[in-house]
Amino acid sequence: MSLVDNNATALTVAKFGGTSVADFTAMSRSAAIVKQNPAARIVLISACSGVTNLLVELANGINDSARRQQLLTRLKEIHRNVISELKSPENVLTEVDSLLDSVSILAEQAATQPSIPLTDQLVSHGELLSTHLFSQILNEMGVNTIRFDIRNIMRTDSQFGKAIPQPEMIRQLAAAELQPLLENQVVVSQGFIGSDSKGNTTTLGRGGSDYSAALVAEATDASTLEIWTDVPGMYSTDPRITSAAKPIKEISFSEASEMANFGAKILHPSTLVPAIRQQIPVFIGSSKAPEQGGTWIRESVSEAPLFRALALRCNQTMVTLTSLNMFHAYGFLAEVFRILAEHKVSVDLITTSEVSVSLTLDQTDTGGGAPTLPEKAVKELNRLCRVEVEQGLCLVALIGNQMSSTKGSAKQIFGTLEDYNLRMICYGASPHNLCFLVKEQDAKSVVKTLHKKILE
Ligand code: ASP
Ligand code: MG
Repeated sequence: MSLVDNNATALTVAKFGGTSVADFTAMSRSAAIVKQNPAARIVLISACSGVTNLLVELANGINDSARRQQLLTRLKEIHRNVISELKSPENVLTEVDSLLDSVSILAEQAATQPSIPLTDQLVSHGELLSTHLFSQILNEMGVNTIRFDIRNIMRTDSQFGKAIPQPEMIRQLAAAELQPLLENQVVVSQGFIGSDSKGNTTTLGRGGSDYSAALVAEATDASTLEIWTDVPGMYSTDPRITSAAKPIKEISFSEASEMANFGAKILHPSTLVPAIRQQIPVFIGSSKAPEQGGTWIRESVSEAPLFRALALRCNQTMVTLTSLNMFHAYGFLAEVFRILAEHKVSVDLITTSEVSVSLTLDQTDTGGGAPTLPEKAVKELNRLCRVEVEQGLCLVALIGNQMSSTKGSAKQIFGTLEDYNLRMICYGASPHNLCFLVKEQDAKSVVKTLHKKILE
């Protein structure tokens, strides 16, 4: 593995996810990865595994004070367990305890009056806590480390819960506040959290640390972005679906973006946007087994196979709108989308026939359930057409290259799936992607069958 760059000016931004900083052992493994790479001078980390979930539960408002106490105790344990293994616990104990106290106060506030801004403030403590511990571990390993509050530079708008970052501001702030620190030390900071122009804490949405790291890499003109997680990179499909899934050593930005969007959970879907803007190669590897290597994502790759990978995303909601007025009419779809836009419904896939249009709804709910169409939107749509909503569906996405312009590729794909009922086939809009819906109970066997026929 040639992750170590000898070029003194090379800068790597390394991000470690929750499982890579879950406890003292995981943190030490991750710290060793940072130590062996002199270019890794900016490290962004997530909250310790499970912590954000606990904090979200507290932020939703728990009135039962015994239950609240239970969660607070669990939080304390997770962080105290790490502290108990430190050589110099006194360096972090006071600050960690004061952060835990602040969680407890905010959780009580949330119990009487929960709000999204309060949620962001509360959940940000997960990353603030983990960075205290991780920077101390790096210091104890002999790495000159400084902890940095990312909110000083991660400027976002004020859409709490899913704030939109402002890359130009982030670049300016990073030049002033972060660059000067990079001379001869490692900066340890937080993923996921940011700040609006008034100084309120915001978050980039669940799983947003990858995105944070990409934004920081972009703002500091980094030469590499490393995403360290608990699997050694991307696979031709989820290895839990079939053991025949193969690791992908190298993949293009376009293919990897399709994969991230269509359910490969390994990367937050927005992560590649800043990396592509700035042409920064991205490496994904497992902090548990760095020697296994991982996946490199870059602009151009040596191989562009027709079929690369299969992604699966369940909990799909399909909406079918039917109206005879659609026949040779104009403005029908415009009206449908006006109504959807008015109710902030984001559409994912779409297919049409003469008198009907089917679409799927984007997953916006962080809870992970199937998205729903707001009742008011249904009412308005009903004035225009018949509305049918179906759930219990999964989206299968096939990622590859030149699929829409390669003769016979459709036969190869669909010929193997004659036993299944495929819905809403979307093919041709992108050379890198073909997707369709199947019933939830068929989803895994569809992926297995297809994987066997075209990827093994
Ligand atoms: N800690 C946050 C979460 O669990 C952000 C992240 O890990 O990427 O969603
Ligand atoms: Mg993650």
